[in-house]
Amino acid sequence: MKKIIVTGGTGYIGSHTCVELINSGFEVIIIDDLSNSTIEVLNGIKKITGIKPEFYKIDLANAKETFSCFNKIKNVSGIIHFAAYKAVGESVNFPLKYYKNNLNSLINIIENMQEKSFKNIIFSSSCTVYGQAEKLPVTEQSPIIKADSPYGNTKQISEEIIYDTIKSTEYLKAISLRYFNPIGAHESSEIGELPIGEPANLVPYITQTAVGIRKQLRIFGNDYNTPDGTAIRDYIHITDLAKAHIAALNRLLNKENKINYEVFNIGTGKGNSVLEVVKTFEKVTGIKLNYKIVNRRPGDIEKIWADTSHAEKELGFKTEKSLGDALLSAWNWEKKYRNIT
Ligand code: UDP
Repeated sequence: MKKIIVTGGTGYIGSHTCVELINSGFEVIIIDDLSNSTIEVLNGIKKITGIKPEFYKIDLANAKETFSCFNKIKNVSGIIHFAAYKAVGESVNFPLKYYKNNLNSLINIIENMQEKSFKNIIFSSSCTVYGQAEKLPVTEQSPIIKADSPYGNTKQISEEIIYDTIKSTEYLKAISLRYFNPIGAHESSEIGELPIGEPANLVPYITQTAVGIRKQLRIFGNDYNTPDGTAIRDYIHITDLAKAHIAALNRLLNKENKINYEVFNIGTGKGNSVLEVVKTFEKVTGIKLNYKIVNRRPGDIEKIWADTSHAEKELGFKTEKSLGDALLSAWNWEKKYRNIT
């Protein structure tokens, strides 16, 4: 069984990826500091797969802790690195917290990989690197635009750190996956998205409004240059996104990579407006959502969606689930989590 370290494995994308890894026959070892997730997620993974992954509570930004943790784990085939702070707004107020955590953890991991001769790393990047692209859909060659937030900048710098390190050695191999907007939950509703406090993201805000925890969804702006005036994103089902990691990992393990550092967009290739998301949620759940249009949210871009042809051709990756599937799964997860039938 090939052993894979998943940092941030109790988080939203991490936990769904652990499930897909286990289902694909990998042994999973999770490293997480539980700063934005709970240990109960391990039980959710066990309920789905029958296996509770080995777990280390480690602050990866701490070099000593990271070193001693990696010393305990032998014969690792690959690392999938999710662990990072991810709140855009918070990063504007606390930039050093973001630079310190997101960059030090990556550096510590790569240093340990070099020392322990672990070859393969998959890095979780983001479509935020493109900013508001002039040409849509965005391809992997679309220009990288100066990040709006320290969070976005940590993703750009992280990609550069990986690129520069790989250029300097024959040994390491990496793939960065630039995610579009992940939404939804595992079909079992045993794991899902668990925002702490008031959600910043659209879909958890929708499900929390539907369940009655939030009074009203605010739609940020209907004066964008889009067909219905609301902003457009490429929403990808979390299970589809998780599967992209298996494809990327297998590419490295099977030595199918063309160069030692590759980048792929991971989205559906389709853009949906905020109003389309709301209407689709209403349709698949039969719930009327309480919402109002308010001003644009500062820092939001107008529209983005992925050109997925590179991932399709090279990784053989294509999404399977629809927007409706994703929204229904998010709703089922919210209901189960709140004990609502
Ligand atoms: N959005 C909204 N109301 C909310 C949260 C988000 O109208 O309560 C909009 C937001 O302005 C953006 C889209 O939904 O156009 C997706 O936002 P999200 O924060 O989920 O992801 P982002 O693309 O900003 O990373």
